[in-house]
Amino acid sequence: MFGLIGHSPSFEDARVKARSLGYEEYADGDLDMWCMAPPQLVEHVTVESLTGKRITGAYIDSVFVPEMLRRFKTAKRKVLKAMELAQRSGIDITALGGFTSIIFEDMNLLREERVSAVALDWSRFTTGNTHTAWVICQQVETNAPKLGIDLARARVAVVGASGDIGSAVCRWLQRRGVAELLLVARRPQPLIDLQQSLGAGRILALEEALPEADVVVWVASLPQSLQIEVSRLRRPCLMIDGGYPKNLDTKAAADGVHVLKGGIVEFWQDIGWQMMEVAEMERPQRQMFACFAEAMLLDFEDIHTNFSWGRNNITLELMDQIGAASLRHGFRALELDPAGLGRRTTLAPA
Ligand code: NDP
Repeated sequence: MFGLIGHSPSFEDARVKARSLGYEEYADGDLDMWCMAPPQLVEHVTVESLTGKRITGAYIDSVFVPEMLRRFKTAKRKVLKAMELAQRSGIDITALGGFTSIIFEDMNLLREERVSAVALDWSRFTTGNTHTAWVICQQVETNAPKLGIDLARARVAVVGASGDIGSAVCRWLQRRGVAELLLVARRPQPLIDLQQSLGAGRILALEEALPEADVVVWVASLPQSLQIEVSRLRRPCLMIDGGYPKNLDTKAAADGVHVLKGGIVEFWQDIGWQMMEVAEMERPQRQMFACFAEAMLLDFEDIHTNFSWGRNNITLELMDQIGAASLRHGFRALELDPAGLGRRTTLAPA
């Protein structure tokens, strides 16, 4: 059995969802009330692979909302309680979705082995980052040529390069061969370490990297206040919006700048679930975050262990393995809308 731990994109969305599910007291409650609320197992689902294998899963809402991010103790408790509920529910492998994996890593929750009377078994959880990194790389490889971008001659900026997903994307792109990797994050030392381990890549500030990049992979949670100087971007430019929340389409929309939601996959058939409706997927019956799909894949493959865990442990071999499973069981990475390709591309003057 697989599990998914998620949360609503905002407090307002969460209240609307609560009302639609008949939880009136939550719909009317304030943020303090929500901070005290326990996690909820809201949905069971059965999923059938392209191979014909059927598995069952459950969605657990952590009842966390991004407005709680600054309430550290609350955020920590929400994630641990949701994990405890997953374990108590007998789920073999559960993905930590949205902010929950970031809270887990940033707050070093590995130290918290017990929640109430339950000793957490880390092998039952995965961040899903290996599959997310693989999907983002597929999205770069598949969509760049559609815009006339030859990756072998392209500069690819990775924003969040020193992170778990970003460093894996850099390793993959280096193996694949791109003209140059532009490495972007705030802290210099992890970037220097990455550059040394890659033996390649140029470290740049965001505002220096963007005007040089043919492709930009965003794998960092960026502040709402971030402004992108769209007039300085190359044309065409492919932007893979792999961070959470996915808000680049409003910041970078322009002629010739193509923003694709990154780390999203589509299943080969509809799944009878409600859970992706709150995540604003275009086709919520089939589309989902790649990290969620990783839990399904691990269950389909009977790999009941923490496949993605800790930071900077994602190897190319693990990406190849989860990628092959992804294709075998009927997932494919989201692609640019063909209708937008001709309309939105204006080639830069030579
Ligand atoms: P990590 O915390 O491991 O890495 C984050 C990276 O972003 C670091 O390199 C960090 O370096 C950098 N960063 C953070 N803030 C900024 C900023 N303001 N400007 C530039 N760089 C920044 O995170 P993960 O690799 O686990 O996840 C990356 C993103 O992907 C997250 O937003 C996460 O929510 C999202 N994600 C999306 C999924 C999906 O859509 N399917 C699934 C899983 C994760 P530094 O601190 O030095 O700046």
